[in-house]
Amino acid sequence: MAKINENYGKLTESYLFSNIAHRVSTYQKENPAADIIRLGIGDVTLPLCPAVIEAMHQAVDEMGKQDTFHGYGPEQGYSFLKQALLGYYAGRGIVLEEDEVFISDGAKSDLGNILDLFSPDNTVLIPDPVYPVYVDTNLMAGRAIRYINATESNGFLPLPDPSVRADIIYICSPNNPTGAAYTKEQLAQWVQYAQDCQAVILYDAAYEAFICDENHPRSIYEIDGAKNCAIEFCSFSKTAGFTGTRCGYTIVPLSLSIQGAKLNHMWLRRQTTKFNGVPYIVQRGAAAVFTPEGQTQIQENLAYYRKNASVIAEALRSCGVWFTGGTYSPYLWMKCPNGLSSWEFFDLLLQKANVVGTPGEGFGKNGEGFFRLTAFGDQQRTIEAAQRLKQLIASL
Ligand code: PLP
Repeated sequence: MAKINENYGKLTESYLFSNIAHRVSTYQKENPAADIIRLGIGDVTLPLCPAVIEAMHQAVDEMGKQDTFHGYGPEQGYSFLKQALLGYYAGRGIVLEEDEVFISDGAKSDLGNILDLFSPDNTVLIPDPVYPVYVDTNLMAGRAIRYINATESNGFLPLPDPSVRADIIYICSPNNPTGAAYTKEQLAQWVQYAQDCQAVILYDAAYEAFICDENHPRSIYEIDGAKNCAIEFCSFSKTAGFTGTRCGYTIVPLSLSIQGAKLNHMWLRRQTTKFNGVPYIVQRGAAAVFTPEGQTQIQENLAYYRKNASVIAEALRSCGVWFTGGTYSPYLWMKCPNGLSSWEFFDLLLQKANVVGTPGEGFGKNGEGFFRLTAFGDQQRTIEAAQRLKQLIASL
């Protein structure tokens, strides 16, 4: 008789986005004239930049000709894209080898798949609130999870507690959902802690492109010692609008060993067995992100989102609302005014201002009383939403 993985029974159903969709559609039906602005989704809205499109068009043409056609490619990615990435990291003083870079169809898959390398009896440390994928993928594997509290008092940037032992540590900076980003000094504390525990840090850098100063690392490898204890996950999704095109990368340093086993070799074995690579056309598009034109164009898009974030931040500041994010991140994480719960504020904002956001409670218990707004929307609509938000809060 076949037996199922009973750990799936431990997963809690996530009703967050279906609940939001339901409340919004009910409200819209009852108020057909309402002009609703959505600042809830975490998806980008600007199209792929011209350099990417041009590179993909060329790659499509190559696929149609006998002498430039590409069949199966290397599972871990084409050298042209890995070399482009090495250049990107070298720009920040990080020297990587081509074999340390693995191209994937996005950070989400790799964040889940990496767990193949670890035994189920590792203890996992996960911040709360959190991007739900870290929790669910570990529950599916039956691993014990310890939560570390991210709260207003630590600015939603918890630091290690030496009295707590962990084997696998998740860090996401800049963070989804809180938008908070660790400084170099703070991240160095995590690297030290991981070394002390002989733990591995799974570092999610999906939003690194939003960082715009030297004091906040864009890669964990900016911290001394990180190559001995950290795996980095990154993505073209938010950097270059690839959410629907699908491309990401994972760095597994050759110097990272556990119990004498090189995680890099294990990951290579895993990927060559279970993954057949990212389409050639997509990888050509991703490589174009690192050309001078590509860099200029994606910076224009990032600047557009940053401007949206600053408009929302300004509205919150002017009402005296506490928040994190918005500077190094497309997310703003605000404290609900007047002690309202996340869902109370959701309903109020929808009904009185016709603006949709995401209740923080959906990201973990410490998210209760907080609310996520995103800067990925249209600029004029974001300006309008910020104005409505300001008016609503001022009226309370
Ligand atoms: N990591 C975080 C923190 C995210 O917010 C997201 C997507 O929203 C991802 C990873 C997934 O990225 P990808 O589109 O590359 O799978």
